[in-house]
Amino acid sequence: MLKKDLAVCIRAIDYSETSQIVTFFARDSGKFTAIAKGSRRPKSAFDGPIELFAQGRIVYSQTHTDKLATLTEFSQQLPFSFLSRNLFALHCASLAAELVNSTTDDYDPHPELFDAFIKFLHDLDQTQDALRPLIVFQLSLLKEIGLMPVLDHCANCKTSHGSRVTSHGLYFSSEANGLICQDCEASFPDKIPVTKTAAAALNNKEALAKTDEKTLKEIEKLLIYHFTNMGGRPPKMAKYVLEQ
Ligand SMILES: [Zn+2]
Repeated sequence: MLKKDLAVCIRAIDYSETSQIVTFFARDSGKFTAIAKGSRRPKSAFDGPIELFAQGRIVYSQTHTDKLATLTEFSQQLPFSFLSRNLFALHCASLAAELVNSTTDDYDPHPELFDAFIKFLHDLDQTQDALRPLIVFQLSLLKEIGLMPVLDHCANCKTSHGSRVTSHGLYFSSEANGLICQDCEASFPDKIPVTKTAAAALNNKEALAKTDEKTLKEIEKLLIYHFTNMGGRPPKMAKYVLEQ
């Protein structure tokens, strides 16, 4: 049976002289992988080889969720100019694509996350600092997959921000799944320190929109630390994003 959806390519690898294996993040279908037969031929049904971050309407057939789907139509568009002019933005987009791929299940729909991902790609075109939209997207991702850390009070003793948490030392622990206060930090050997500015930006969209580059880097480091602990290894693109 043929299915239609709106999708963005989050991974594409050459499969043969003429074909590609493509992972899509689709609005109604979620993430899935398909074979695009003949996509590398000069006159393909997909307007040429399928490119990373190409988006548009797709038609595909799928016989079983364990098997590769077969892509039959894709009118691909590449509306994002950062792809050709901003290597760091490309690295940030690639990290986001990798995280979508590693944290969502095949054919598990996440329409809101799909919309957030498309918005993130457009935001990369509008800004010089790619880390800010990347952080916003990663927080949406954590929320959507049900793994949002506790950021507005101590994840262990529940002491709220504004009292001890902001006036004393703060840490982030993946094991505690959130920020921990100075009184609790000894119970969590695996943790990283967090500045008050970063904690405030993590809890407030307006603060995040205004925060400086140093704090953005600190927050991104914290998020990658968390994704690394959850996934058991660092995301492949992490080093390219952190070394900037
Ligand atoms: Zn505490």
